[in-house]
Amino acid sequence: MPDRSFLDWPFFESRHRALAAALEEWAAANLPVDHGDVDAACRGLVAALGEAGWLRHSGAGAGERLDVRTLCLIRETLARRDGLADFSFAMQGLGMGAVSLFGSEPQRAWLEETRAGRAIAAFALTEPASGSDVANTATTAVPDGNGYRLDGEKTYISNGGIADVYVVFARTGEAPGAKGLSAFLMPADTPGIGIEERIEVMAPHPLAHLRLDGVKLPAEAMIGAPGAGFKVAMSVLDVFRPSVGAAALGFARRALDAALARATSREIFGAPLADLQMVQGHLAEMALDVDAAALLVYRAAWTKDSGAARISREAAMAKLHATEAAQRVIDQAVQIHGGDGVRVGEAVESLYREIRALRIYEGASDVQKLIIARAALAEAGR
Ligand SMILES: Cc1cc2nc3c(=O)[nH]c(=O)nc-3n(C[C@H](O)[C@H](O)[C@H](O)COP(=O)(O)OP(=O)(O)OC[C@H]3O[C@@H](n4cnc5c(N)ncnc54)[C@H](O)[C@@H]3O)c2cc1C
Repeated sequence: MPDRSFLDWPFFESRHRALAAALEEWAAANLPVDHGDVDAACRGLVAALGEAGWLRHSGAGAGERLDVRTLCLIRETLARRDGLADFSFAMQGLGMGAVSLFGSEPQRAWLEETRAGRAIAAFALTEPASGSDVANTATTAVPDGNGYRLDGEKTYISNGGIADVYVVFARTGEAPGAKGLSAFLMPADTPGIGIEERIEVMAPHPLAHLRLDGVKLPAEAMIGAPGAGFKVAMSVLDVFRPSVGAAALGFARRALDAALARATSREIFGAPLADLQMVQGHLAEMALDVDAAALLVYRAAWTKDSGAARISREAAMAKLHATEAAQRVIDQAVQIHGGDGVRVGEAVESLYREIRALRIYEGASDVQKLIIARAALAEAGR
């Protein structure tokens, strides 16, 4: 049983502790699922998470606010049991994040579908020539009758191919660069959306390269104001970046648990592995990395929930530290497992593959460092 003492930290209210206990029980009974067919697994997970009520927390209906501590607790708990369960929950939130934060009343109808697990959401920002460099977005949305016509390509889109609805970012041209982008709600059955390629990655999940070829959307599909797309995207990432850290934290806790179990059960040189001080050194570093990650993740979440308009610095610190720390923790867990650590099918072997992308998506680690440095320099008046 992993350490649950963090739930007593002052970042949490009793409702968070109750939710964590209930989800722990649900996750123990329902996870992990079979990953053999990832599309089917994700569809099943979205339906199950919706039916059990967990997806209600992935978005905010009219008059509600996203509770970032709840998002993070759910992601941490699911990731500790099953990476695909975390992915399925997270994408409902990220995919519909723009609608939760800026959506009009009619747009919120989609949110109710994704929160019930009846529709699958996706977030389409990245393009072949603009991943970190969002201001370089080339997909265009030009006025067309009472709406817009979208043309371009989006790549590395999670849930691409199985999503029922996308939030897509395109250039409307109010100003050059980042100030000329807008966000749109795009149902997957809109004519002109093509899945050009399904992308295989080291920890499989539904992922695709999309082509938009004359996709016509009504004016009401725009989320937020014309030209506000960059602000919409960054506000969504502000909320969801700490939750990427929370998922990494869940992976790291699973790796630490596996390493502790292995170190106490495996005998070498006539004694448990855990008796070796060098192994204890690894375990200490892992436990420290886990707690430091948890502190940063829940500090960021608490700051947002306490009313901060933006938490770019705290979110960047949480994502950067938690994902990098989880990579270290998992790597040490693999080492403690010896040869079994790299054996396909071992928990630590799949964690080793699962953690890697978290240091790249929703802003690579280097980008998080820039955000933190800029905040520090601004504070110093530079
Ligand atoms: C598994 C997976 C799922 C994804 N899901 C989605 C999704 O659902 N929706 C979506 O829109 N996108 C998604 N992405 C795309 C992801 O957000 C981008 O891959 C990421 O933003 C990096 O962009 P890039 O791949 O173009 O790399 P580049 O922008 O080319 O960057 C390459 C590397 O350069 C370094 N770097 C970049 N900028 C700087 C800088 N300013 N200073 C210093 N170093 C820098 C970083 O190390 C970075 O990793 C996903 C990616 C993966 C791998």
